[in-house]
Amino acid sequence: MSKASYVVLVTDKVSGDALNPLYEDERFRVVQVDDSSEPAFREALAAADGLIVRSATQVEEEILSVAPKLTVVGRAGVGVDNIDLAAAAERGIAVLNAPAGNTVSTAELTMALILAMVRRVAEADASVRQGEWDRSRFKGAELRGRTLGLVGAGRIGGEVAKRCQAFGMEVVAYDPYLTDERAAELQLERTELDEVLERADIVSLHVPLTESTRGIINSEAIARMKKGSFVVNVSRGGVVDEAALGDALKLGHLAGAALDVYEVEPLDADSPLRGSSNLLLTPHLGASTQEAQELVASEIAEAVRAALAEGDLSRALNAPAIGGEVLRALAPLLELGRGLGRLACALSSGGVREIGVRYAGDSDDALKPLTAYALMGLLEPVLGPDQVNFVSAGHLAKQRGIAVARTKMSLHADYTEFVELVLRTEGGSLRLAGALLGETHPRIVRIEDYHVDIVPAGTFIVLKNQDVPGVIGRVGTILGSHDINIAEYHQARLSKGGDALAAISVDGDVGTTVREALLRLPEVSAAVVVLLG
Ligand code: NAD
Repeated sequence: MSKASYVVLVTDKVSGDALNPLYEDERFRVVQVDDSSEPAFREALAAADGLIVRSATQVEEEILSVAPKLTVVGRAGVGVDNIDLAAAAERGIAVLNAPAGNTVSTAELTMALILAMVRRVAEADASVRQGEWDRSRFKGAELRGRTLGLVGAGRIGGEVAKRCQAFGMEVVAYDPYLTDERAAELQLERTELDEVLERADIVSLHVPLTESTRGIINSEAIARMKKGSFVVNVSRGGVVDEAALGDALKLGHLAGAALDVYEVEPLDADSPLRGSSNLLLTPHLGASTQEAQELVASEIAEAVRAALAEGDLSRALNAPAIGGEVLRALAPLLELGRGLGRLACALSSGGVREIGVRYAGDSDDALKPLTAYALMGLLEPVLGPDQVNFVSAGHLAKQRGIAVARTKMSLHADYTEFVELVLRTEGGSLRLAGALLGETHPRIVRIEDYHVDIVPAGTFIVLKNQDVPGVIGRVGTILGSHDINIAEYHQARLSKGGDALAAISVDGDVGTTVREALLRLPEVSAAVVVLLG
């Protein structure tokens, strides 16, 4: 990507000192057209190597088609709904975002909502405006001595923890991917989700929206919370089940709640949430401060500069290199690596320290992309599906302190294309292996010490059970009674009558109720459900 000079077109009113990384590099020329509907914008696109937008400009196929030199699009902010990532990748254009600049603003909004919620500021304000002076109705609670239950302790969760500690609160956190170092640095007590819910006076959510966080605060979770406790969600709509929250507020189980994000945005004009008196509602304001706007703008200006001048694509959200012939030929192997990564994430516990990717096979080019795909599989459930890809996976792993080792092994006796993944976490270690059958059919062939043979697709259940008669039948009955069809069932044991492992692939979703029913079988000691693609 490196050449002598670059033109960067900047729109959506991104301006001022934020663009200094570009102004200060003499190889760059900045063209500003604030309104992308103006003809000048299209004219400038013809010569642009880079484009910087906020959310107003729709960067779609049609725009990309009139920008022949464009290789980088930077979004000053996090969400990239306004950019067609696939169309950009197809044209070899990298799309970058700026995820960190919003952190403090969002943490501060969380604090504003927590304080307003427990002191009932909005309701008291409305009552005074109506001519009332009712001091007894608005008795609140102090934060000092209370417990904050954090769900997600990444960038924003960490900043919220620090601020709540300064208010004299105790902080307990559930974040299965947090390392011991990070927990110690934040002085957090880490525990399981159920315990966080049971102990917290205020539960605050700071997770991405993924398969494992969707509806994490549902009626069951709320029932575990103390009567009179509070919920605040400044993360993503969909993490809280809004109907369950509304019911709990109405019944008085929760004393109050605050939402900045919603299942559907903008919130419906006649949404029942608007009628709840003990619920604070803000219209997705987490990042809406002058400082956050400036920080994300300078973060993206630097990222676009580094991408163009130094070829640094560590912040890329799409995978512009994926079109290559080599990668296309490796696709089944790469998908196998990604499936193994996802399985490793589901089966491991504690922060990941190290991942080893070992490959035995014909290709001399496979190991690097295979490692990137294994990391993608490992990190997607943690960071959310749009936030990690082939290009950024290695960088994100490094950022999270995960050491990566790649090894090319000599050919395997049984398989021509063989991949092994070894994970070391704070909870122990895990070994998985997969192979290609007939060069294009991926199979998972080993989970820990158990030999299995199963396609890494759809929903996958891994059970640990005792090797006694009747277990397979009882598992089948539970799945059948919930209308879940078994596609493949592979039972493996280490010795007769000892520990056994079942790898079951099924059609359709497996919810908590089914998982709990499986765990109630006396022979079953563990049940993990994972979506393998
Ligand atoms: P981050 O990636 O730094 O932190 C997310 C944390 O969630 C990580 O530590 C991860 O390990 C953890 N996590 C993932 N899955 C989990 C699970 N199943 N259970 C518990 N923890 C889990 O992200 P961040 O920058 O702190 O952002 C957090 C959320 O806030 C994101 O959803 C982001 O989109 C949202 N956000 C909202 C606004 C707003 O305007 N309201 C602004 C910025 C960010």
